[in-house]
Amino acid sequence: MTSQTFGKPDIAHANPLARTMLKKLDYDQLTNCMRCGFCLPACPTFRETGVEPESPRGRIALMKAVVDGVMEPDQAFEDQMNHCLGCRACEPVCPADVKYGQLIEQTRDAIEDHARHGAVVSGTRKLFFRGVFPHQNRMKLLGKSLRLYQKSGLQKIARGTGVMKLFPAHMREMEQILPEAASKGVIERIGERYPAKGERIATVALFRGCIMDVLFADTNVNTVKLLSEAGFDVVIPKTQGCCGALHAHSGEMDQARELARVNVKAFKDAGVDYIVSNAGGCGALLVEYDHLLHEDAAWADDAAWFARRVVDISTILVDKGRVPAFAEAMAEAQGAVPAAAAETGASVTITYQDSCHLRNVMKGSAAPRKLMKSVEGAHFCEMRESDRCCGSAGIYNVTQPEMAGQLLEHKMEHANATEAQYMLTSNPGCLLQMKLGIDKHGRGGDMKAMHIVDYLYERIAQPTGEA
Ligand code: SF4
Ligand code: SF4
Repeated sequence: MTSQTFGKPDIAHANPLARTMLKKLDYDQLTNCMRCGFCLPACPTFRETGVEPESPRGRIALMKAVVDGVMEPDQAFEDQMNHCLGCRACEPVCPADVKYGQLIEQTRDAIEDHARHGAVVSGTRKLFFRGVFPHQNRMKLLGKSLRLYQKSGLQKIARGTGVMKLFPAHMREMEQILPEAASKGVIERIGERYPAKGERIATVALFRGCIMDVLFADTNVNTVKLLSEAGFDVVIPKTQGCCGALHAHSGEMDQARELARVNVKAFKDAGVDYIVSNAGGCGALLVEYDHLLHEDAAWADDAAWFARRVVDISTILVDKGRVPAFAEAMAEAQGAVPAAAAETGASVTITYQDSCHLRNVMKGSAAPRKLMKSVEGAHFCEMRESDRCCGSAGIYNVTQPEMAGQLLEHKMEHANATEAQYMLTSNPGCLLQMKLGIDKHGRGGDMKAMHIVDYLYERIAQPTGEA
């Protein structure tokens, strides 16, 4: 289906937000929506509420009504935009190829330009979006402080004395499942280069992420080693930074572009064949750096070079690598062997929660399944609605805890039905959300949430290199 091009309306908006939206939104994308409604069943917030404004079609209609001057953007309008998970499940099903993800980011960017946050919210946003995430050294400091809190006994004291009760319930729950922060990131652990095992297929670069390298540094190390096992030389450019996804999703587009330039330069200087991401949320923005910087003449070509090379770890292993043999050890199985696994002679059942961004933006849903199905001694059980958002969605579970909690409850119903001992994911946010669900359902003794990289690396028959 071809898209039609209409000019932006020539309206002198009295409302400042409407003026900004008129300037920032891609009007062609707004008019491309033909209101067919094919996206409605795919949208988690519509499925939960059954209300049109909580659907992709409804949100696009609201955006267009504001830009066309038919509607004043009020608080209800902003709430509808904030309720969107940004999961982008509406995009693959859209016959008109409406770029909904771009529209919601442009809308939030406009809203943020006029936001009047209170002092606490404003200060927190400024601290994290500008003061911490963009600076790897400060992220490391934050990680060390968190580690000190976790290891020094302060955490026990905070929990024991009831200090944590001062925080909202969803924050307390998240604090319970936070992994141990690492004192060293991937470069400090294994250096900036790691050689291929056997004949080299290609040279790839690891995108280490900001939160990944603090809370999931082991996963970064295991990613490098898996790539090495599969035949790739790995470099880890030291000057790379945060991908900017949390900024882009929260209306901080200028900051997201600034971070994109830093990364484009870091990886262009490294001159690699591929740029490997192990976090769906980061990868989905990295793969769209070309769009993010397409109006910046000085950076557009290099951003396109960068975007073409971005690939998820599972995809590159399956499509380009020498996939190692993975084997489940009987002794490592948790709990009783489910009947479905026993029938196949397997010792464990594994299941998988898709990262929405890996699935809907990077189109990377097949490769993880192929890898999981290749594990000897493991039975892969597809979870019902594994393609549906778990409610994590960046910082959505912090800003919209009610909806996030509802989505997690549905997810756990389906997870429990699989009787899986391992719940695998490809994104740190999904991993934490699944850990939270397992914890809330008292399943910690017989179900473990893991990043797919960690699970696979631990099951390489004879891993080599540093343990
Ligand atoms: S599927 Fe696409 S064209 Fe149809 S209503 Fe949804 S966004 Fe609009
Ligand atoms: S991004 Fe997700 S939550 Fe938002 S409108 Fe699309 S399907 Fe619904």
